Amino acid sequence: MNLETVDRVGVVGAGTMGSGIAQVAATHGYDVVMRDIQQGFVESGFDSIDSSLERLDGKDALEDDPETIRGRIEGTTDLEDLADCDVVVEAAVEDLEVKKDIFEDLAEVTDGETVLATNTSTLSITSIASATDRPERVVGLHFMNPVPIMEGVEVVVGEKTDSEVVDFAHDLSESLEKTTWESDDKPGFVTNRILMPWINEGIRAFDEGVASKEDIDAGMELGTNVPMGPLTLADHIGLDVCLHASETLHEELGDRYKPAYLLKRKVEADELGKKTGKGFYEYD
Ligand code: NAD
Repeated sequence: MNLETVDRVGVVGAGTMGSGIAQVAATHGYDVVMRDIQQGFVESGFDSIDSSLERLDGKDALEDDPETIRGRIEGTTDLEDLADCDVVVEAAVEDLEVKKDIFEDLAEVTDGETVLATNTSTLSITSIASATDRPERVVGLHFMNPVPIMEGVEVVVGEKTDSEVVDFAHDLSESLEKTTWESDDKPGFVTNRILMPWINEGIRAFDEGVASKEDIDAGMELGTNVPMGPLTLADHIGLDVCLHASETLHEELGDRYKPAYLLKRKVEADELGKKTGKGFYEYD
């Protein structure tokens, strides 16, 4: 299996990550089919892609014009439209049962050669792969947010992932001008295993009145040289995504990964961060 045989990339989910992955694949010349469950979600995915392409074009960061890139992406609500894809990257909600259903369907509509990748933040690749008849062709391709800007991709190797598929995952990411590292299929992989406790501790520090949200973020930004403090970063990731990830880690690794009380309350209040206009901060 090599990259030369790939011209059609499928993306499942047109949210924050799916639209970003579709955009980056199209920017690098691939034909893309982006699928969500409702036309409205597909359209808001295209809105994000349009504004991101416009910003990048304004900085002269694109080789092709935005219309050409946009023209390579087909939006759909029909899973069957992914049938001819050489690789499909799933970026739907972080819920094991939803992902297993998607993978079962993907294995049915695509041919046996298609690589099925998941962008999951914390869920087991092996478990997701068990819903298919080809676990050896399932791999974790964990893009970072925002996908068009962040350089890194974590390649996650399931129990049964074929080494040829792992090599392909690295090659595909590199063809998108990304730099990869590899993680075993352990809860949270490298990144979220370390990031989620940091975010939850920031939320607890805020909830327990250690400092204002601005001072917590400033303390971590200026004190440890990270580009965003934990509360701003949580808003960017999406508080629902952080809660799902923290709950998985808590379930798998025990009490040190317990999600912060305030994180749960915010998600219940539908204050999910940037995507709903309010999280720890407010956004236009
Ligand atoms: P999101 O909520 O922005 O988007 C999820 C999209 O999936 C929604 O548009 C939803 O309608 C769609 N969806 C739900 N069920 C579907 C189905 N059966 N078929 C097709 N689409 C379906 O979420 P997101 O932030 O883009 O996260 C997507 C995945 O990427 C999750 O697994 C998440 O853990 C992972 N991830 C997120 C980030 C982040 O910073 N947000 C970073 C890395 C990985």
